[in-house]
Amino acid sequence: MRLSSEQRDGFIAQCRTAGLSVTHQRLATFEAVLANCNRHPSAEIIYQTVRERYPTISFNTIYKNLEIFEELGIVVKVNPLYNEARYDVDVRPHHHLICRQCKKIIDVHDEELGQALPPVDAENGFKVENWTVQFTGLCADCQPAQATA
Ligand SMILES: [Zn+2]
Ligand SMILES: [Zn+2]
Repeated sequence: MRLSSEQRDGFIAQCRTAGLSVTHQRLATFEAVLANCNRHPSAEIIYQTVRERYPTISFNTIYKNLEIFEELGIVVKVNPLYNEARYDVDVRPHHHLICRQCKKIIDVHDEELGQALPPVDAENGFKVENWTVQFTGLCADCQPAQATA
């Protein structure tokens, strides 16, 4: 997938602001996250995608770039599930449906959901800044076929 010039410019601007040099590999890493954005890719999937163009790139380089992107707010890490962080280029607050079988992650954009739960601030002095709701279950593909009676 090719970046639109808008996405590309936005990415470059964010890097520059942070004093980060925009290397081809970094750009390719960002592009790989976007190309897989529908499935909230793991670092491994991003690595496989970038390697098609840069066969010599190491997993470590990819992983470090993802960590930097996260610091800059270019990606967010979806709560580490099943021992593997998954990355989301959609940094707006939103919620997730997570299939416990195939580990598919589906976005839920529902503003009411974000307002529905009262922050638990007071009791233990913890200041809640934001929260997301995760629903776990089985996606349509993983549900056993209904037995017809
Ligand atoms: Zn599933
Ligand atoms: Zn998401």
